[in-house]
This record gives sequence, C-alpha cells and structure tokens, in this order.
Amino acid sequence: ELDAAWADRWMHDSARVIAENRQRLTTLDREIGDADHGENMERGFSAIVEKLDTDGTPDTPGAVFKTAAMTLMSKVGGAAGPLYGTAFLRAATAAGDSGALGPAELVAVLTAARDGIVARGKAEVGDKTMIDAWTPAVDAAATAQAADSTPAGILIAAANAAEAGLAGTEPLVARKGRASYLGERSAGHLDPGAASTALILQSAVRAAE
Ligand code: ADP
Ligand code: MG
Ligand code: MG
Repeated sequence: ELDAAWADRWMHDSARVIAENRQRLTTLDREIGDADHGENMERGFSAIVEKLDTDGTPDTPGAVFKTAAMTLMSKVGGAAGPLYGTAFLRAATAAGDSGALGPAELVAVLTAARDGIVARGKAEVGDKTMIDAWTPAVDAAATAQAADSTPAGILIAAANAAEAGLAGTEPLVARKGRASYLGERSAGHLDPGAASTALILQSAVRAAE
C-alpha cells in the first residue's frame, strides 16, 4: 500500500542509495558540470531522513513529500535542489490528504512532480536533463495504469523507463543547466540529474515491496 509508511521508506531508501552513489553522481557531474551533484543530493536526502526521524513519520504520503520539498529547497543549492524541491511540492499537492495512493493518484503525483520540474527549469525532452528520465517515467506510468497495473507495477514501469531515459541522455547535447555551457562537448556523457532521478524512482519500487 502506498501510504505514509511507504513514502517514509521511499525517502530512507533514496537517502541510502544516493549516499552509496555519491561518487558516481559527482563523477558524472565532473564530466559535464561542476562535480557537486553527489554532494548536493546526499546533503538534501540525509537532511530529509533526519527531519522524518526527528519529527516522526507524517500521517499521509503528501505530508512526507511536503517535508522532502521544504528540506530540499532549504538545504540544497544549485540547480537540483529547487528542481527536486518543486517536484516534491507539486507531488504533495497532487497527493492531497489521501492516506494511501491508488493507481490514478500515483500517476497524478508522478505527473505533477515532472510538471513542477518543467515549470521551474523549462527543459524539454532531449535537452539532456533529469526531464529525460522523468518524462519517459511518467509516460510509462500512465500506460501501465491504463493497462490496470497495480501501484507497484506502475512504479516498476516508471523506474524502468527512467533508467532507459538515463541511458538515452548519453549522446545528447545539453541545452539546459551548466552542461549546456560545454555545447557539443557535453555529448558522450550521461546526465547526472537523470541518474539521480533513476535512483530515486528505483527506491520508490523497493519501498513498495
Ligand atoms: P548545479 O548544476 O547547479 O551544480 P547539480 O549539479 O546538483 O546543480 O544538478 C545538475 C543537474 O540538474 C543536471 O544534471 C540536470 O539533470 C539538472 N538540471 C539543470 N538545469 C535543469 C533545468 N533547467 N531543467 C531540468 N533539469 C535541470
Ligand atoms: Mg553540479
Ligand atoms: Mg553546483
């Protein structure tokens, strides 16, 4: 059940996996950015779990997302903090007061998160950003829901599509964010933000198991 306990496990699993992948995310960002994406994400997600552990798990998934949003916006500088912060804030609004997300609510939450990133960063698919992981994930989630998948099945479809989207960023030339300063030289590298998105969506799957 995608309840508050699931959302809490999702944040904890994300924090663990981001810490494990800190070096990898930072190395990716060294190639086409400023080598801080691992640190930025680890700082943000460790602060989220600290807040959840101190205050106790909120009553609803939406309230967990709200805590995540506020923490990311206040603790993480650079591009990714405000972008993920906006994603979780929109996710919180979409989740509303629901105690457990059903299939349609889950798709609405993922869609709202993606739309928040687009509203904030104005990136389109193909610009070599985290949107190249998020948009295929949202599309796959909607397709899975239309085929009557369970919430867990929808999450698996989304996470798999995000991973494929990440792989697809390699040949792209960046048109948004720091990597765009490199122009053609940004091609041949994976986008760090798409990599962190794939990790976070995989955590959502594990949290639902
Ligand atoms: P900074 O680039 O400020 O150092 P990070 O390294 O933490 O911030 O995050 C970089 C990631 O942010 C990129 O790999 C990309 O996925 C994402 N990003 C940057 N600008 C945008 C944007 N306008 N829209 C969507 N994602 C973006
Ligand atoms: Mg960076
Ligand atoms: Mg930076």
